Amino acid sequence: ESSDIDDENSHIPASNVQSISSFDDIQQSISSSNWIPLTIFLNFLLNDTNSDPCHLLFYIITEELRMKKSENRSELIRWIFEIHSTFTMNASPFYIGLPQSQTDAINRRLDAHQSETPEEIKNIFNDAKDHAKSMIIDRQIEDFNHKRTVNITNDLNLKPHHFIEETLRSIFEYHYKSSYVDDWNSIKNARSLALICALATYLKRCDIKKCGNILLEKIPKFLDKEQKRLLAKLQRTTPIKKIKDHQLNEHQFLSEILCQVCLKPLWGINCQGYLCGYCQQAFHRECAFSSEKCSKDRAKLRKFASNRNPS
Ligand SMILES: [Zn+2]
Ligand SMILES: [Zn+2]
Repeated sequence: ESSDIDDENSHIPASNVQSISSFDDIQQSISSSNWIPLTIFLNFLLNDTNSDPCHLLFYIITEELRMKKSENRSELIRWIFEIHSTFTMNASPFYIGLPQSQTDAINRRLDAHQSETPEEIKNIFNDAKDHAKSMIIDRQIEDFNHKRTVNITNDLNLKPHHFIEETLRSIFEYHYKSSYVDDWNSIKNARSLALICALATYLKRCDIKKCGNILLEKIPKFLDKEQKRLLAKLQRTTPIKKIKDHQLNEHQFLSEILCQVCLKPLWGINCQGYLCGYCQQAFHRECAFSSEKCSKDRAKLRKFASNRNPS
């Protein structure tokens, strides 16, 4: 399971957090794997029309990153780019709304990661975490305590795993069924997909393997070692696609790159989209059909890759 998380679970004191009424409660719930109060808070954010769950999900995932033992630089960079492209990059589907200077700083450090230690790389989101934390404190915790109706005592009969699964199941299934067809490449709603992946990551962290009838192992998750295997399989089994004379390969990007059709970033877990073997342009899978005919000119288009702020 989560074997590369420090062996804290065996010797942590039981948390006595019953409900989330301060950020300290969130921190304690995470560090003691006391997921029930956190799940109730998360479920509130998921269902309340004025709330956005992206800050809390980002915080939980980056806390997990902090606790990872991995010293493998390329794995860390891959994980970090997956989180960055989902939560902290401009126009990412679960954008937490960072000040531009902070987004720029993350981009810079990803570009220059060779000069940082694995420990420094793991801390790349520290400022963004502080930002997410302040959003949760300023806007969400108080709101939750005013509006919430769910009471833990209602469900004391359920075991923790069942309680967590039951609580999150309907929203998870809703987004899964509305967007999932038969392969990940076909999902069009970026925000639903980001949510499914983030919730699958959370449920796995809670040691849950199945949500309703949906096997979580099938779903891309953040900070997941097994993902590497799925990625290799995807690249092995996906033939090169020829669209508008482009030779399109599934590609895993490790720094910000914009789709040359819609000019939004390529984002997500594993392969984020297509890269043309001739012109080196990048596209979302669903955008490739609307691209201009391939120029077959490598030199001209490589400029796009380094052009971070097209106007
Ligand atoms: Zn091309
Ligand atoms: Zn696009």
